Amino acid sequence: MVWDKKLKAEIVKLNCRVQELEERICPCSQHDWELIGRRYDVAYGVGDAEIIYRYKCKRCGKTTSTMENLEVAAEARAHGMTYGQWVAEMHERGKRGDGM
Ligand SMILES: [Zn+2]
Repeated sequence: MVWDKKLKAEIVKLNCRVQELEERICPCSQHDWELIGRRYDVAYGVGDAEIIYRYKCKRCGKTTSTMENLEVAAEARAHGMTYGQWVAEMHERGKRGDGM
């Protein structure tokens, strides 16, 4: 349906705008995320549940839910890897048993 499409496009646009504004609201250019909870999204897949992390910025109060552990995501960025690559790397290291 045409209206459906238009509506979806509008929602995506507004979401982007909200995100942009939230970034500006934060007094610092970087949010100071604090883990406020986590839950398992069992509906996501059969067998292995995804963990949904919930964070709140200590500075501006913005909350976010993500499937990425932001501490891990920061480490990944520091190593120039994507979240997925870094998680896979950690998994490999864990199997080999050389620390971390
Ligand atoms: Zn913030």
